[in-house]
Amino acid sequence: HLMVQDGYAPIYSDFDSFYARRLKLRINDCFERPTTGVPGRYITLLDRETVDYNEHFRLTGTTTDTLNLSSYNYLGFAQSEGPCADFAEDTLRKSGITMTGTIGDAATSTLHVEVERQIAKFVGKEDALVFSMGFVTNATIFPALVDKGCLILSDELNHASIRFGARLSGASIQVFSHNNMADLEKKLRDAISQGQPRTHRPWKKILVTVEGLYSMEGTMVNLPGIMELKKRYRFYLYIDEAHSIGAVGPQGRGVCDYFKVDPAKVEILMGTFTKSFGANGGYIAADKVIVDKLRATCSGQAFGEAPTPPVLAQILGALRQIAGEEMGKERLQRLVFNSRYLRLGLKRLGFIVYGHDDSPIIPLMLYNPAKMPAFSHEMLKRKISVVVVTYPATPLELSRVRFCVSAAHTKEDLDRLLVACDEVGDALQIKFSSGIAGGL
Ligand code: PMP
Repeated sequence: HLMVQDGYAPIYSDFDSFYARRLKLRINDCFERPTTGVPGRYITLLDRETVDYNEHFRLTGTTTDTLNLSSYNYLGFAQSEGPCADFAEDTLRKSGITMTGTIGDAATSTLHVEVERQIAKFVGKEDALVFSMGFVTNATIFPALVDKGCLILSDELNHASIRFGARLSGASIQVFSHNNMADLEKKLRDAISQGQPRTHRPWKKILVTVEGLYSMEGTMVNLPGIMELKKRYRFYLYIDEAHSIGAVGPQGRGVCDYFKVDPAKVEILMGTFTKSFGANGGYIAADKVIVDKLRATCSGQAFGEAPTPPVLAQILGALRQIAGEEMGKERLQRLVFNSRYLRLGLKRLGFIVYGHDDSPIIPLMLYNPAKMPAFSHEMLKRKISVVVVTYPATPLELSRVRFCVSAAHTKEDLDRLLVACDEVGDALQIKFSSGIAGGL
């Protein structure tokens, strides 16, 4: 309800929603604990009420060291030591912390150009653009790719940044059921039936938009199915690889690598450096003609802040290690082992777990949002940090815990987590199946 004062609704009036009143207030401290130190294998959480930086910039307050299942540190590159951190520190000393400008205005460092080259090579495209934020990459690229008269077909579980960018473009948007090839084909057929298949008329362009690995479900895109439809319906394809780049495929090169699809056949490969690379920022990789055009027309490039030198150094250092034979392979193998081990362990205990076997994102279903704070607090008592998710990221009745596995975790870490889940699962009555037999 709006509390109208003097004929005007106060600016906060629409905060007064079901979500804010009934839910957010009760589970605030699951989401909003400040952290300190590296969000690596462990993470240090602080009590919001006691945290302070004194006059010498020393942190004071009550801290808790926890095993970290809440960061997207898939390959363990969130580190303050090692070759990437050394390179980033050295770059900080030489180049400072900011480019003090937008990418379009003389703020493109040599490191920026090198990251563009290396990420393009890594994903198998001719060229790439680098942005200072993944969200901005999606939010500003769609208006440069499509406009009124074009059609975007978007998976229902696509990330908020894709939806934001798609709306901003002015193109028509249709949403297809998650990973459902029959629904996508039906929508394609309906769209094209009014015109000529080879030209997409009456649409100027048709762009299908999906993610590689879905961040709330842990599902992987049905890329073979989409490529089959692409042959028949000749649409353009945009894949957001925020969670899959560096994390899936025998060489960590994402879903094309995983499904043995030639990246040349996918028009736009988007990704972020926030997850597997332990850095910040986003990229768009495509053919050179597309990248040249986007460099001039995408507002996130023309008017967005340039990525900072230490961040670019971290990306380059991580990319070198992932692409390099031994260290990269070892981290990837560890990630795959850890993901499968935890997923199977949770299923054996009787939890309902969503997602693909090779996904490091492991959602454990609670269904009831009222159980979220209890789960989070019980884990915290056992010195384990987890993320609990509900509306608006998922439907209310599909509230869940989402574990993010890392190559930095040891088998002992995951065993400790499994013991904790077993205890808390019984206490909260969230084991919905009798469990499966067998082990790894
Ligand atoms: N795309 C997807 C699929 C994401 O999950 C995210 C963030 N988690 C983004 C884009 C935005 O990236 P960033 O956090 O690097 O801004």
